[in-house]
Amino acid sequence: MSHQGYVATPPYSQAQPGIGGYPSGFGSSASQPLYGHYGGPAQSFPPPQPGGLKPTGPPSSGMPPPGPNQYSPNNLQNGAHTQRFPPPVVSAPSSSSPFGQPPQPPYQNPGAAAPTSQLTHQMSAMQIGGYGPGSMQAPPGSSAPQGFQPGPPHAMSRTSMPLGPQSPQMGPPSLPAGALPMGGMSGAPPMGGMSFSGPPPPSGSVGFQPPAGPPGPHGFPPQQGSFGGQMAPAQTGFPGSFPAGTAQLAGPPQKKLDPNSIPSATQVIEDDKSKREGQLYITNLKGQVPPLVTTNFMVQDQGNASPRFMRCTTYSFPTTSELAKQCQVPLAAVIKPLATIPRNEGQLHLVNHGETGPLRCNRCKAYMCPFMQFIDGGRRYQCSFCSCVNEVPPFYFQHLDHVGRRVDFYERPELSLGSYEFVATLDYCKNNKTPNPPAFIFMIDVSYGNVKSGVVRLVCEELRTLLDALPRAENAERSAIRVGFVTYHKILHFYNVKSSLAQPQMMVVSDVTEMFVPLLDGFLVDFQESRSVIHNLLDQIPEMFAETNESETVFAPVIQAGMEALKAAECSGKLFIFHSSLPTAEAPGKLKNRDDRKLLNTEKEKTLFQPQKGVYESLAKECVSNSCCVDLFLFPNQFVDVATMGDIPLHTGGTLYKYSNFQIQADGDHFLNDLRNDVQKPIGFDAIMRVRTSTGFRATDFFGAVYMSNTTDVEMAAVDCDKAVTVEFKHDDTLSEDNGALIQCALLYTTVGGERRLRVHNLSLGCSSQLADLYKSCETDALVNFFAKSAYRAILNQPLKTVRDILVSQTAHMLACYRKCCASPSAASQLILPDAMKVFPVYMNALMKSCALVGSPDVPIDDRAFHRQLVLSMDVADSQVYFYPRLMPLHNLEATGAALPPAVRCSEERLNDTGAFLLENGRLLFLWLGQACPPDFIQGVFNVPSFAHISTEANSLPELDNAHSKKLRSVIDHITQQRGHSLKLVIVKQKEKLDMVFRQFLVEDKSLHGGASYMDFLCYVHREIRQLLT
Ligand SMILES: [Zn+2]
Repeated sequence: MSHQGYVATPPYSQAQPGIGGYPSGFGSSASQPLYGHYGGPAQSFPPPQPGGLKPTGPPSSGMPPPGPNQYSPNNLQNGAHTQRFPPPVVSAPSSSSPFGQPPQPPYQNPGAAAPTSQLTHQMSAMQIGGYGPGSMQAPPGSSAPQGFQPGPPHAMSRTSMPLGPQSPQMGPPSLPAGALPMGGMSGAPPMGGMSFSGPPPPSGSVGFQPPAGPPGPHGFPPQQGSFGGQMAPAQTGFPGSFPAGTAQLAGPPQKKLDPNSIPSATQVIEDDKSKREGQLYITNLKGQVPPLVTTNFMVQDQGNASPRFMRCTTYSFPTTSELAKQCQVPLAAVIKPLATIPRNEGQLHLVNHGETGPLRCNRCKAYMCPFMQFIDGGRRYQCSFCSCVNEVPPFYFQHLDHVGRRVDFYERPELSLGSYEFVATLDYCKNNKTPNPPAFIFMIDVSYGNVKSGVVRLVCEELRTLLDALPRAENAERSAIRVGFVTYHKILHFYNVKSSLAQPQMMVVSDVTEMFVPLLDGFLVDFQESRSVIHNLLDQIPEMFAETNESETVFAPVIQAGMEALKAAECSGKLFIFHSSLPTAEAPGKLKNRDDRKLLNTEKEKTLFQPQKGVYESLAKECVSNSCCVDLFLFPNQFVDVATMGDIPLHTGGTLYKYSNFQIQADGDHFLNDLRNDVQKPIGFDAIMRVRTSTGFRATDFFGAVYMSNTTDVEMAAVDCDKAVTVEFKHDDTLSEDNGALIQCALLYTTVGGERRLRVHNLSLGCSSQLADLYKSCETDALVNFFAKSAYRAILNQPLKTVRDILVSQTAHMLACYRKCCASPSAASQLILPDAMKVFPVYMNALMKSCALVGSPDVPIDDRAFHRQLVLSMDVADSQVYFYPRLMPLHNLEATGAALPPAVRCSEERLNDTGAFLLENGRLLFLWLGQACPPDFIQGVFNVPSFAHISTEANSLPELDNAHSKKLRSVIDHITQQRGHSLKLVIVKQKEKLDMVFRQFLVEDKSLHGGASYMDFLCYVHREIRQLLT
């Protein structure tokens, strides 16, 4: 197996094997033949296997609302975490508490100095190559990498020459006096000092001497025995190689490692861009690895779903469950069924089979797709999912050509495309009735807090115009969505806004224990027809409640009321709730303050993330069965129990927005952008998603803003273009290398125009009995999405430390298995990473340091709960930038013609006093200004004479007519466009109060709240790998 890790990677100036092996690496693989329908030979399928029978049901089987008793904690998907988080097989050395209780220094063994030394030596002994000067991300004119001498001989020599002499067994490293030891290793963060200062490697040190003592890795038998069996015992220390670690401490100062030499996420991103940016990605191959989410490319659907709809953790599944267990690489797909498609890629085709409805396999109910194999002169077809042979109905009959392909192949989207839609018949509708168009209900908290902060007025003013932009069906002149209005504090006010009225009428419901809707006629109306009455109402609301003293609110009755209104109108819909405070008024769903910071870093920390049971649980279930999606806009000034209040948006396919300490000047625009985006975005209602697979494996677990009342149907009261569901697969049989692994995701939903549709996405993956193929076809960004969601769900039920430990141990296992089964034999001291996963450790470390997983008294529990819920519905692009933010130098912006400056490593090292930087994580956009930032830049951007004059209160930049201002604003616009939603701009001045907040996002550095630097984590993982391999 030639696929070496980054150790063997040539410098960036040279051609490298493709990320994920595409196209050079993967194209040569035998596991990627042309798929049968695309010019290849007709495929044959094995006879039906009895074990392959899928659960079947009538076409509408998924449709009825869940039964009354199906909602229990066990059925909630929160319960099913244990597969991914078993007790750790390998525990970290018990004394070191690696990802343990912050703010203890990570990896520090309080008992002995030895591990520090060991790690240092171990790191020194890692062969690090391929990251020479080419990988330097220093911006032009930047002095960030202080002390870095970009002397080519030094760095370049590393690419081909191991640092043999630094191996612990070979004596102390030869270092110039004065070089600092690696700061991070001893637990102290290297504050800006981790710089390259090494000497040129001694000449002649080409050969690396493996450590004496442990059995060398030479002759490592690939793929023998069970990996699991060898790693079971938890070990401490390095077996053999460091018999007396303390002895090493007496040596001369250790060599400082060059942080530039460890794999760089930004470099991987840039490499993929340079290879694949702007290219056409044609989806005609099985097991094809798409470009990274950070690369801009065009997709042409030729039989597999676009990666915009579906991405996988690996595009080559192992053939057996034993192999899957051995490598521990999760097999998962991140599916964004309603993803927005760029205009130039065309919209999905709509297939209408009239009253017959979509064609489906009789046995497994899979929909007609390019994977179906027509036989018998076109009279029958064999299902590729279950092998069942089906009759072709007469209306669908067509002759086959000389390669066995139907002659109407290119005329039928369902035969030639990976993604398309069917018109659904009444069988697919609730109660066999055509659905009514959905409704939007705007529910405004008019208690003292929301009135005083200006939220009420802001919402009402915005709705006056926003309602003209309600989503509408393609080619429809106006939106079919009806609208309704409610205001509330301790009691609820419904409004009759019937078009025939001169004035809106208010109906008060003061008994909130048994919520009912006091009016049906005139509550949900067509905005265009009732425009003047609605405008009248929106003018009046802020005045009516301007003098309110009512500070208490209810919450559950509000959702109940909205849901009952939709139910009474027999339609699906969405509630937009604008809420300010903890609902403490006497009513169902009353909440109490349980913000108990004493629980941080204890066994009970998980309870902080658990929603309060009872009312909200049954309410979520009722909302889903009545297709009522809840979007919650929170404006809290203190604890509001986000864990509980956000749980209903989470389970109804809704979105939670949170604006803490809302200030109209600072946050108003950001909120309004969110609201506009939320109201206008493409959305489907009353959705149910089913993921079918070919024989041998199946979908076993689902993560997202979804509700599961059984093990297969993913229910969403609504699903919008941003929501992604991560689906995990497990083997239940052996997969065939010839047939591959097929996935079909079918989403049944109601359009904004009230039409029932079935959207189908198909994807064919490769299968291989060689784990090397799996590692070659991995997608690190999708892996991180999966691990983030599984860990964020697991923290509801397990101590955070356990969850973090499992993440570390799984990282080590995945990499150790690669080392054992796929890499060429090499010294144990080398860290070898699969090419497609070389930045996996930095992402996993960032995940472990994310605020949900690290308890700090400085981060409010509501924020942590908010972020937990946010991540659960993220797609791969969102989670990528969320865990590894993009840091972009802004000085010399004008010099570069590109829309965006190239990103640099997310580390303090990259900052400098004279620079300005943008950092974005998909949610926040920091503009960081060095103390010595040039005055002309400051003048140009802020229109003030000096650094001292810059106000950090502002959340937008003035529009000034000069090059600095224009370029910077265009960069920000570009980022906003890429994300599809607005980001909150935060201006940070070096060494002022927000600087510390900003630095938490520099994920390669040691975290203030506990959590290792990237370098430390890599050392730690390397040590774990070595333990697993001995
Ligand atoms: Zn079938």
